[in-house]
Parts: sequence; structure tokens; C-alpha cells
Amino acid sequence: MRKRFCTLLLPILLLLLRPLQAEHPKLIVVVIVDQMRADYLERFSAQETGGLHFFNSRGANFLNANYEHMPTETCLGHSVLLAGRNPARTGIVANEWYDRETGRMTYCVEDASSPLIGESGEAVSPKNLLGDNFADWLQSSYPGARIISISLKDRAAIVMGGHHPQAVLWFSHETGNFVTSRYYGNQVPVWAQEFNGRHMVNSYAGQQWAPLPASDSHADPTKQVGGQFPHLMPKQSGRLLNDAVYGSPFGDEFLEAFAEHVIKANHLGENQGSAPDLLAIGFSSNDAVGHTYGPDSPEIADEQIRLDRTIGHLMEFLNTRLGADNILWALSADHGVEPAPEAEQQLRGNKAARRLSFSAAMQSIQSQLNAIFKIPGEMHWFAGRTDTMLYFDRTELARHNISIAAASEALAKQVKSVPGIDGFYDVTRLESVEGWIGPVLRNSVFPKRSGDVYYLPSQWTLFSSKPTGTSHGDPWPYDRHVPLVLAGWHVKAQRIARNVQVADLAPTLADLTGVHWPKSEVLDGKSRKGLLK
Ligand SMILES: [Zn+2]
Repeated sequence: MRKRFCTLLLPILLLLLRPLQAEHPKLIVVVIVDQMRADYLERFSAQETGGLHFFNSRGANFLNANYEHMPTETCLGHSVLLAGRNPARTGIVANEWYDRETGRMTYCVEDASSPLIGESGEAVSPKNLLGDNFADWLQSSYPGARIISISLKDRAAIVMGGHHPQAVLWFSHETGNFVTSRYYGNQVPVWAQEFNGRHMVNSYAGQQWAPLPASDSHADPTKQVGGQFPHLMPKQSGRLLNDAVYGSPFGDEFLEAFAEHVIKANHLGENQGSAPDLLAIGFSSNDAVGHTYGPDSPEIADEQIRLDRTIGHLMEFLNTRLGADNILWALSADHGVEPAPEAEQQLRGNKAARRLSFSAAMQSIQSQLNAIFKIPGEMHWFAGRTDTMLYFDRTELARHNISIAAASEALAKQVKSVPGIDGFYDVTRLESVEGWIGPVLRNSVFPKRSGDVYYLPSQWTLFSSKPTGTSHGDPWPYDRHVPLVLAGWHVKAQRIARNVQVADLAPTLADLTGVHWPKSEVLDGKSRKGLLK
């Protein structure tokens, strides 16, 4: 009898004595920093004590996470991160691609049937994002899970939020408000209207952006080019002030204040334990600062150190509300950034670094094509171009009796020595492309939207018509290698050197939280849960 008592009740007693462990976190927070290169996390760590410090010191840090597509731009990165699929499957092949039917450039999130609510501006929705993403899978795995996605950039917020979120909001440069489109409802949520009513962006009028003592270039161990501090915010409210806030660390602070309001108003993470909620938050100001001043500037150092504090505030706020152990955090970026060529030469003596205008490259391409096809005089070869893609002008080709196949093949095989370009790739003949670039190209092409030919800019060449600043878009390590860190709920601190793809984030998050995706959804990424301690 006694023995039976033990066999029956002991396991039950042990179960009861076991520390209660939720099967899923109360809240999943995905933090995406626009243009944050992988090296930033370590580079500024001596000055950081907040959110980035938490990720770096307490997270599972994938040290070698890369994008496997090109061009490396915002819309692609944010869609890959949450979809676990590359652009060949998401259909998001560029921030803007050339639409051969309409004969004009198409914005990645444009959707004429989803106008903005109460604002003028481009009509937008996730319609162009093919298939579901982590946000959608979360909702179907946990009915009642709520999804809110916010950013200063519309495209970042929209592609992260998936197809059925509760709310997606972004910053209007025109009004300084957080806005949304008809896709998400018939009105701006009342709680967002309340926040907008405070006109918080105007509180930055006349403020000065000067470096924090901790980020002063003398205190920074990394070499830097001279900064242009201080930066004064315009004194008048309006578009100029909104743009200036967006282009400074104040933009991150502003978004963080909105995030706190979103969490409070919606009781995110308080689903009575029945379903985890998701907050996706895209910090955009780092991209604006990086474009203007470059990754070696005191401005980007101060932007990062302030962002560390800003994300730290969000963490403190959430930890107090929900308890630190109930929140699963992820940190990544949509792409990295190329050093400004002048800084690259000055600081690291890299003679390959150069700034070129694309028009010189274009002239060389066109004159070589003219010679190959014996075109007398001028011909309008291209209808559209984006970072790394060229679209032939098909009407013009037809007029000259040149097939698209012949033009693409000639460009890929016969056009040589174009300044700043290492190679051209015909999208219909990618199967035979060898080396690292082969899979990158095959992951990138969605034929209906992609260019006829992709081009590979030379490493350290910046195509720019501006005399200063920098950009991104290439498949070189400085643009592809980004942070990828999980932290919080059940995640132990560790550094993982193994090469992974950024597309692994969504399936890994899903695997950790009991989220399933439909069999019909073919992913490029794979779960890395097995690499976690
Ligand atoms: Zn950018």
C-alpha cells in the first residue's frame, strides 16, 4: 500500500514542488536597429550600461550572423528577420523596384487600396510581402496573442507586423504624429491619438545634440574622424524639426516613449498567461545618423551610446511591469554600413576605398553595349536601377530588335572594366554562378520584381553623388554582418561563433516559444535553439 502511495503520489508531489515555469514568455520584444553593424556591439561596450550592454553581456550572442541577399536595404532586412525567408521568397527585393507593367518605381510597401488615415502620404500595407511571418505564426499558434509593430519608418514597421497585427504605426515627418493606414483599421487607435495629442516631438525644439561625456571622442578607444558637434534642433515646430529629430538620437528617445505608451495602453504581456504578445520595434535614427556622418564618426558613437540608454529605459519599464524572466528579447539589424571612403583611407590606410558617381559606371556600360550591338549614337538602355539591379528598357530593346536575353547575356559576359563594378549577373542564368556570390544572388531574385541583371559593386567602392556621408546595399561583410542576440526568458549568456543566417531568427524564436508555421511555408532560415545552452 505504502509502495503504491509512493509510485502514484511522489511524481505528482515532485511536479508540484518544481519551480513554476511558464511554457512561453509573456512578451516577445524584437528590437531592430536600422544600419547597426555587427562590430558596434563590442566597439562601444566600454561606455554602455543599458540595453545594448544587456544584450552583449547577458544574451546568447551570435557573433557571425549574416544576410545572404543583395541589395542590403531596410525593407529586405526587416522582412527577412521576421519571415525567416530570403527576398526570393518574400518578394521584397528592394526598398523600391521597377514595375515593368506600370513603368515606374514601386515602393516595397505601397498599396493604393490602403491610404493613410488623417494624413496625406503614400498608401501602404504589407500586401507585397508574400507569405506569413513570425507575427502571423504566433497568432495562429496562440489565439489571442497580440502583435504591435512600431518604428519611425513605415516600411520597417509594416513588414515586421505581418498580415494580421493589432496595430502598426510609424512616424509622419509631415505632422510629427504616429500614423497608420486603412489596412490596419478605420481610425488611428485612440491610445495613439492620445500620445499624438501631447506633441512630444515639439519638446525637442531648440534642443542641442551634443555628445554625452561618455561618448566624447577622446574617451572613445576607437579611432574616429572629426565630428561636427553640436547639432541644434530647429526652434520652430514643423517638418524641419521632425526631420532633425528623426536624424538624431532624439528620434530613438521619442520612439521609446511611444513604446512605453503602447505597452501601457494595450497591457502588452498581460494576456492572463494564455498567449505571448509581440512588440516589434524598429529604431531608425541610427540609419539617418550613419548615412550623414558615417560609422567612424563621433556622431555614430554618441548615437549608439544614447541608444544603449534608450533601450535600457524600455527594459527597466518592462521588467517592472512584467518581471525580467517573463520577457524574451531579440536584437538585430536590417543591414550594416560601408565606411565613408575618406574615413576608411584616413583611419585605416585602405587605398581601395573610394567614392564614385554611378554615372561614370553607367556611361561605360552604355558605350560598351552600344559597341557590342553596333548602335550608332545614343540608346536608352535602362528603364530603372536600384542598388545592385538594372532593368532594361524593353520598349527600346524591341525598337532595336534586341532580345532581353541577348542584352542580359552581353552585359553579363562581355561588358568589362566598369569603374567600381566587379561583375554583372543575368538573373535567368544564375544556376551556374559559383563562389559565395552564387547563393546570395539565387536568394535575392524574385523574377517579376527583380532587375534583368544584378551588378556587384567593388568592395570599398561607394557609389554616391554626395561629397560626404555613406550608404549600404552591397553584399560585402560591412553591409551583411549584423548583431543577432537573444536574451531574457530562459536564455543564458553565451557567445556563439558558428556562422548563422539572419533568416534563422524567426524559426529560432518560433522554436523557443512553441510557435508553429504552416508546412506550406518554406523557410530559408533554420532554428538555432540547439546551439543555445
Ligand atoms: Zn539606410
